Amino acid sequence: MESKKYFGLRCHKKWYPSNLPTASIVICFHNEEFNALFRTVSSVMTLTPQHILEEIILVDDMSEFDDLKEKLGYHLEIFRGKIKLIRNKKREGLIRARLIGASRASGDVLVFLDSHCEVNKVWLEPLLNAIAKDPRMVVCPLIDVIDYVTLEYQPSPVVRGAFNWYLQFKWDHVFSYEMDGPEGPTRPIRSPAMAGGIFAINRHYFNEIGQYDKGMNLWGGENLELSLRIWMCGGQLFILPCSRVGHIDKQHVANHTGIAKALAYNNLRLVHVWLDEYKEQVFLRRPNLKYLAYGDISERVELRKRLGCKSFQWYLDTVFPELETS
Ligand code: UDP
Ligand code: MN
Repeated sequence: MESKKYFGLRCHKKWYPSNLPTASIVICFHNEEFNALFRTVSSVMTLTPQHILEEIILVDDMSEFDDLKEKLGYHLEIFRGKIKLIRNKKREGLIRARLIGASRASGDVLVFLDSHCEVNKVWLEPLLNAIAKDPRMVVCPLIDVIDYVTLEYQPSPVVRGAFNWYLQFKWDHVFSYEMDGPEGPTRPIRSPAMAGGIFAINRHYFNEIGQYDKGMNLWGGENLELSLRIWMCGGQLFILPCSRVGHIDKQHVANHTGIAKALAYNNLRLVHVWLDEYKEQVFLRRPNLKYLAYGDISERVELRKRLGCKSFQWYLDTVFPELETS
């Protein structure tokens, strides 16, 4: 408790310039609980200084829930002027849905959120400030856990994003010695990977490094693909512990067959574009993956060449040595 207070005070003392870049918040949703979605939007509207909030872009990925139709439009009226609501004509999956939202954005920075989040005071300023200093810096807030059933808000310890050879995302502990030094536990944490759809990136940089892989379907894998691409192609990925966003942890969709199939397909695309000879490490553990289809990846291979990206070996040596020995 004492350390939490100390932590809050430390973040509280940080100062951010008033001329920060502007943000477009992109939130896509498919069959989201009305209240969860509305809370996401209203927390952003009430806790973000208006002059840095360019707009909130909501992308309805073909939801079927009735209250997400006229009722949603009606209730969003109170935020008129700051909200764009886009309705997909077919289910695109979260990857293409986010791209549709991003293509309509005009802020300097894109901030992606899930549709069941709750932001906190001074959540956006640290993200924008880091990107203002370095446009190739991609930053994630520290994600606090909101219980699916009780909605209890549980602050997370400082962690970094990682994954294993099964390509499963996991959180890794940050050692206390890494939080020594003048900034203490408020220091940005270099992260090999991002968890999912909660991060901020300079809009031009997002376009320059190839957005997302449009060939990926439905759900999953895009977070690791983007993480590898950022590191291997000249960018950096950090978690900023002073930016806090709560996220409702659902227990989970991955056993749904459509999702499992898309995840395998998407993972294979990233394996074949980014893992070089290390793809064998994945196939060793998941031999059945080797024979599944993954579509045409020539455009992404071309992108990697065009951007002059480094090898996966470089990523292992420089960014994520813990993976090789795992
Ligand atoms: N989503 C979407 N289309 C889909 C699947 C998901 O727009 O086909 C949205 C979903 O409503 C959520 C976001 O994408 O806002 C991320 O999905 P989810 O929360 O299931 O991912 P997780 O938090 O488990 O990574
Ligand atoms: Mn989510």
